[in-house]
Amino acid sequence: MSISLPILMLPIAAQRYSCHGCGNCCRDFTVQLREADLAKLRAQDWETKLAMPVTVEFRATTYLRQREDGACVFLMDDGLCRIHKEYGFAEKPIACQMFPFVLVPDDVRTHVGISFACQSVRENKGAELRTHIREVDRMSQSVPETRAATYSAMLADAMSAKEGELDALRMTLDRLLAREDLVMRDRFDGLAWIAANLGRAKLVEVRANRFRELVMVLASAVPAELEHLPLEAALTKQMRLLRQAVYARLEDVQVNKAKAKGRWRTVLAQFLASRAFTRGAGPVPSVARDLLEGCDFAAISAIPTLSESADREAIDALLSRYARATLLGNRAWGAGYYGWSAVRGLQAMVLNIACTAWLARALAAKRGHPTATIDDVRDALGRIDRHAGRAPWLGSVGERLRLEFFRLDDGLRRITRESI
Ligand code: SF4
Repeated sequence: MSISLPILMLPIAAQRYSCHGCGNCCRDFTVQLREADLAKLRAQDWETKLAMPVTVEFRATTYLRQREDGACVFLMDDGLCRIHKEYGFAEKPIACQMFPFVLVPDDVRTHVGISFACQSVRENKGAELRTHIREVDRMSQSVPETRAATYSAMLADAMSAKEGELDALRMTLDRLLAREDLVMRDRFDGLAWIAANLGRAKLVEVRANRFRELVMVLASAVPAELEHLPLEAALTKQMRLLRQAVYARLEDVQVNKAKAKGRWRTVLAQFLASRAFTRGAGPVPSVARDLLEGCDFAAISAIPTLSESADREAIDALLSRYARATLLGNRAWGAGYYGWSAVRGLQAMVLNIACTAWLARALAAKRGHPTATIDDVRDALGRIDRHAGRAPWLGSVGERLRLEFFRLDDGLRRITRESI
């Protein structure tokens, strides 16, 4: 008999959330449907009422259909959901009910993380998270795999985590991210430095208590140790790969369009756009429904780092809250991030933060801001976290190779400092 894991709500007292009905999560999101969702949609008889198909099949998976503009077919002009309006919240597909909560089991509990793709989460608006626990518990009953201990946590590749190691890593990094005596650049540089060091360390010789000590020693060396490890600017190749990583995180595959276009034409079009984006010269090619339309790569490079923004305190608070929520919500590794080990997942989290910082500067350039504002960073983070842990291509071999490359020549640190 399988035992349902206990639920642990994201333990960040300052984080809040309530749905404010902006409808953003119903645009440009691919919503995958389960058999129970399909049964509900059939019983609600939408295909007759709307006189069109409401689902689409792609590679043996069924999704909610999107309109030409990327909005879900059920999204109404007032930003509300038609299913919700006519049948109530609990009759929507389970993925829609769950958002922005992300349930990630490990071998002893189910962590409830939260997605920063949600505007209310980014703006920290609404009720305390603990007030949602009963509803999350109810919803999780429809997704039994989120309450089952099916995943064995890994510390590094081919190395299972011993009891307490991942909690020690999470808690130590959380304390680092909450330190008020550090400036934003040192905090994230320190995170990148620790992630890179853990990637280089022979962890097989440093297990259990010794691993805990290692992580604590590394964290306590920030920022003093960093002063002795000054960095040159990021290498051209590193910046190219950073832009490639940003492109991969912005790529929006609209299932009905990809299906109509055909697999190979879709792949070729993405390859060409990715190559132009990676090159980073001239006008920015079309990406994510022209998110950066009219923007030039030279203008993006001219935008100062986030640390030079007048909004740097608010930006620091947002990025630190995001990183803490990702770690404590178990979204950085394991079942929350493509089954990756903690070390590799930590490196991916640093890359996601560097991508957010680059994209925020790009949005500032497009909007004519002299430096990135808190709104630029909020919007960038919303785009980057939308795909993190969800889009299959970010868990691919190509993404692993990108991270391997950033392990060379202080790559993770350099791309982090370059934008933050
Ligand atoms: S079904 Fe409703 S909640 Fe889900 S994406 Fe569509 S409009 Fe949004």
